[in-house]
Amino acid sequence: MGYLPKVARIAPHMWEEPCISGTKGSGAVFFSGCTLRCVFCQNYEISAKNFGKVISINQLAKELEKLENMGVHNINLVSPTPYVDAIIEAFEIYRPNIPIVYNCSGYEKVETLKKLEGYIDIYLPDFKYSDNDLAKKYSCADNYVEITTNAIKEMLRQTGKPEFDSQGIMRKGTIIRHLLLPNHVKNSIGVIDILRDNFDDYLLSLMGQYIPCGKATETEKLSRTVTKREYKKVEDYVIECGIDGFTQELSSADEKYIPNWNYK
Ligand code: SF4
Repeated sequence: MGYLPKVARIAPHMWEEPCISGTKGSGAVFFSGCTLRCVFCQNYEISAKNFGKVISINQLAKELEKLENMGVHNINLVSPTPYVDAIIEAFEIYRPNIPIVYNCSGYEKVETLKKLEGYIDIYLPDFKYSDNDLAKKYSCADNYVEITTNAIKEMLRQTGKPEFDSQGIMRKGTIIRHLLLPNHVKNSIGVIDILRDNFDDYLLSLMGQYIPCGKATETEKLSRTVTKREYKKVEDYVIECGIDGFTQELSSADEKYIPNWNYK
């Protein structure tokens, strides 16, 4: 990706975790590009095919201010990593007075995250795999477990314990998302083990919204949604491990929750 931010959509977004979207929405900026190449990506057009429009740093700063003026609970930077330097420049022009959410793949360099210290209030990374071979196969990622574990340790170091306002809206903290893949309960159980053994003071968001998209429709094991039985097995394990956070209704596995990419 280039230096200047390329964006596919800037708008209030209602479908994040309840403490992020609240009643007024999360002010989402969807950036083009991603640090992973997941075969099942729902946002394939923007993550891999570079759909988006390049905007200036001044324009990005203005868009942050506009979102804030709409009354959203926070600014939600989605897949922002390719543009960290430009985003920091935009914050130097306009610094919103609401929490900043860094909504990313989780496969990040610690040195990149260190640049963000003091700018980000809430990290929202994924932890997708407990098996490096699976990460290589489905997301083209090397050393996935080590890199993501170190990245999330840095995020937690920066945010500390989760904090909420009187309405239950998150002010600071880290929520780790895990998306169940069909036929991969063992992978998910392994992820829960990694979270339990490596991290404190986080919330888990256990996601069941998987729908086969892109190349996943041609990948036998990934070509269906997650079953209730698969989800329950992992959910029961999360409870057994005493991990706090969010679960998701399986009715979320619906294309209607994928935003339109229209530059708006
Ligand atoms: S991390 Fe998320 S946005 Fe990036 S390629 Fe994977 S599924 Fe798509």
